[in-house]
Amino acid sequence: MSHTLHFINGEFVPSASGKTFEKRSPCDNRLMGTVAEGGQTEVDAAVAAAKAALHGDWGKMPTDKRVAMLHAVADGITKRFDDFVAAEEADTGQPHHVIAHAFVPRGAANFKIFADIIKNVPAESFVMDTPDGAGALNYAIRKPKGVIGVISPWNAPFLLMTWKVGPALACGNTVVVKPSEETPATATLLGEVMNAVGVPAGVYNVVHGFGPDAAGEQVTRHDDVDAITFTGETRTGTAIMKAAADGIRDVSFELGGKNAGIVFADCDFDAAVEGIFRSAFMNTGQVCLGTERVYVQRPIFERFVAALKARCEVVKYGRPSDAGSNYGPLISQEHKRKVLSYYARAMQEGATLITGGGVPDMPAELREGAWVQPTIWTGLPETASVVREEIFGPCCHIRPFDEEDEVVVLANANRYGLSTTIWTENLKCAHRMAAAIDVGITWVNSWFLRDLRTPFGGSKQSGIGREGGVHSLEFYTEMRNVCIKL
Ligand code: NAD
Repeated sequence: MSHTLHFINGEFVPSASGKTFEKRSPCDNRLMGTVAEGGQTEVDAAVAAAKAALHGDWGKMPTDKRVAMLHAVADGITKRFDDFVAAEEADTGQPHHVIAHAFVPRGAANFKIFADIIKNVPAESFVMDTPDGAGALNYAIRKPKGVIGVISPWNAPFLLMTWKVGPALACGNTVVVKPSEETPATATLLGEVMNAVGVPAGVYNVVHGFGPDAAGEQVTRHDDVDAITFTGETRTGTAIMKAAADGIRDVSFELGGKNAGIVFADCDFDAAVEGIFRSAFMNTGQVCLGTERVYVQRPIFERFVAALKARCEVVKYGRPSDAGSNYGPLISQEHKRKVLSYYARAMQEGATLITGGGVPDMPAELREGAWVQPTIWTGLPETASVVREEIFGPCCHIRPFDEEDEVVVLANANRYGLSTTIWTENLKCAHRMAAAIDVGITWVNSWFLRDLRTPFGGSKQSGIGREGGVHSLEFYTEMRNVCIKL
């Protein structure tokens, strides 16, 4: 049994109240351990440590040294690669290959790439004319924003948390992280790496606990938190934005999605089936960029539905450690109940069930886990709740379309606007679609192909702001202009 502690001011500490909460395995619902449940006392201590560190060694550290330290953090993660993979697997139950080949290496990369960007980014400068003819010189300098509150979700916990912590620290800020209560392990383990490579105490802090009226909200309401970066549900974003309004703190939001996948009849058929399969079912459908609405051009509609169904029916359920398993459980019993309620609602709304729709028949030792089948529906109107609302599970609705203009209207008729994936061999059509669909991220003949230098974020109710590359610097630094009269 594990006991996960907070990481505050360079030390692993329990809650002052002695309160803890349970962490159960998504695979079999077995009690894995307990987690310290933080509240105002821990949040106050973490924010105070973060604020002090800004004025201590960290705040005074030359950029070169800070950059080297963040490279050391990335190397430290790589050195403890197996520990991070094991911790993430235990928390999420997701397949080994996804965690070992994507989520943990990307977590390490998040420290290196932003360290390199901050080292190389130019500052703007303008020479201006003045009436006396001597002119003036303007130049911009970047300063860290201060203490950043980082509120992160459970679906790719290490990758999404470091995606914020990496650039925040590269820019010279300090952080107080409130990881999801479902996935506390890797954020805590990162504290060990921070200490091992000599990151000063108070630069990286982790407080465990819940969201509303608890540690999460207390971080977002804290007077000494200067900005808040959040990934999670749109509804939570609304609550955090209200909290951030007091004190006029800046927010960066990566929120929900109900993303459309669009398949034209001229696509590379096998690649499109595999691409849509990954986008709808990878990580058991728990990817914000995932596809839950698929639009397929009529000439290949029946063939596409049959091929995607066949692909779903060969997934191999299992624990991350089971040889050959490629499909994990949902994160929790609560999420399983939510996803299954949508499965039931789809049928009430008149869907045709193509495959799945329930719970797979699992061996006895896994029966209590949060397993659900990959599920495909057809035949629903666009007004059906399972076509409009984010389910965040392994499911999609597939609808035929005829014309390009028609599918643009269908794809855009949703309150979210995070991403889309378009499959066609006609690049002129792809360019037109990319310009017409209201999302932050468009993939053509690919999905989740990420260059960390590119702008990442959502339109409409999928987010505020962009992170990635130099765009992260816009949020994590304050630009100051200096004007010198010559
Ligand atoms: P969530 O909003 O329930 O929780 C996210 C975090 O917010 C957790 O740490 C939680 O404790 C905390 N929280 C909850 N209420 C809070 C409050 N009132 N104040 C402060 N903190 C609070 O989201 P989740 O269920 O963990 O994650 C799934 C959601 O995240 C989905 O909607 C998904 O689309 C979205 N997501 C978006 C992106 C993106 O890049 N756009 C990436 C991953 C996940």
